Amino acid sequence: MAAIIELENLSKHYSSTIIGVDDVSLSVEDGEFVTLLGPSGCGKSTLLRMIGGFEAPTHGRIRLAERDVTWDPPYKRAVNMVFQDYALFPHMTVGENIAYGLKMMGMGRAEQRTAALEALTLVGLADRFDQRPNQLSGGQRQRVALARAIVRRPKVLLLDEPLSALDARLREQMQIELKHLHDKVGITFIMVTHDQTEALVMSDRVVVMEQGRIAQEGKPQDLYDHPVSPYVANFIGTTNFVPATVADATEAAATIETAAGSLQVLLDRPVAKGAEMTLGFRPEKTRALAEGEAAENALSGHVAEVIYYGLGVRVSVEIADGTRLYVDSLLADALARSTVPQVGTKMRVAVEPHNIFLFDGRVAP
Ligand code: ADP
Ligand code: MG
Repeated sequence: MAAIIELENLSKHYSSTIIGVDDVSLSVEDGEFVTLLGPSGCGKSTLLRMIGGFEAPTHGRIRLAERDVTWDPPYKRAVNMVFQDYALFPHMTVGENIAYGLKMMGMGRAEQRTAALEALTLVGLADRFDQRPNQLSGGQRQRVALARAIVRRPKVLLLDEPLSALDARLREQMQIELKHLHDKVGITFIMVTHDQTEALVMSDRVVVMEQGRIAQEGKPQDLYDHPVSPYVANFIGTTNFVPATVADATEAAATIETAAGSLQVLLDRPVAKGAEMTLGFRPEKTRALAEGEAAENALSGHVAEVIYYGLGVRVSVEIADGTRLYVDSLLADALARSTVPQVGTKMRVAVEPHNIFLFDGRVAP
C-alpha cells in the first residue's frame, strides 16, 4: 500500500527549552487507523497540528499524498480535524452545521443536502437533520462533528482526544462506532489519545510517544507482547517490574536472581553474568500456585492485598525486597482452583520464561 503521509525528521521547538516534537519520522499508509499515544505533554497534539497545518515545524518535512505540504496552510491540505470540544455552531441545525463547509466551497443547495444527509446517515443520526446541537446528547454532538469532518471526504482525518469529553460508558460505545466509521469511509484516521485501552481497541497501529519522540510503534498486540522499554511496558498495559541480576547465561536463556527466587528467561540478545537487569511481566501472564504445587519458574512472597474487580481478582504479592507484584486471575478460575488467598499468607507465583521481558539496568519506570 502507498503511504498517504510521510513525516521526515519533523521537529517543533517552541523555544530553546520547550521542545514539543523532536525528530519524528513516520509513514502512514492509505486507509490506516493510527493512534498517537502517550502521557500529557509528550507532543501528541503538536504532531497532529503540524500534520493539519495549524502549527509550523521548526525542522523537517511533511508529505501528503506524495506532495510536500510542509508550508501549506490547512485549507490547502486534504486533511480535516475533529476537535475535542466539537465546535458546532449552536444557531444552525445539524444539517446546516454539516453542510457549512460545502456551502463555503460553493456547492449547490440540493447537493449540499444530499452530501450532509449521507454523512449523517454514516454516523446513524439521519433523523436529527433538522434539530439543533442543544437538542442532542454529548455523544450525538460528537457524531455530528464527525459527520461534518468527513462530509468533504478528506484523505486524512485528524482526531485530537475525540472521546475525552464523554463519560466512560459512552466512550466505550463510541470507540467501537468510530472504528466502524473508519472501516466504512476508508479515510485514513490519525487519532491522539492518552488512554491506552482506547488506542489498543481502535487502532491498526499505535505510536507511543515519549518527550516529543517515538518510543515505539507497532500493531497493538506487538507492543503489548514485545515492549522495547520499561516506559512502553508501563504505558501499555500493566507490568510488574522486578530488580534482578544475571546468575548464569547461555546464548538462548539465562538464570536470573531476584529477591523472591531465581527465574529462567529467554534471551534475544547476549547478557553478561553479574549484569544488573530488570524483569517485567504482565499480571495476567502469571499463575498463583496452590499450596504444595510444583512449578519450574516461580517467585515467592506474601499476600499484601486482595482486590476484587468484577470479572477478576488481583492479588498484590510483596516479595523480600519490598517490591509488590500483581497477580491477576479470572474470579471464576481463582475460585475453582481455590487460589484466592488471605492477606498475610505465603504465596508463590509462576511465570513462564517466554512471558518475561528483560530490560537492561535497574530501571524504575
Ligand atoms: P500532548 O498533546 O501530548 O499533551 P502537546 O503537544 O500539547 O502535548 O505539548 C508538548 C509540549 O509542548 C509540552 O511541553 C507543552 O507544554 C508544549 N507546548 C504545546 N503547545 C505550546 C505552545 N503553543 N507554546 C509553547 N509550548 C507549547
Ligand atoms: Mg494534547
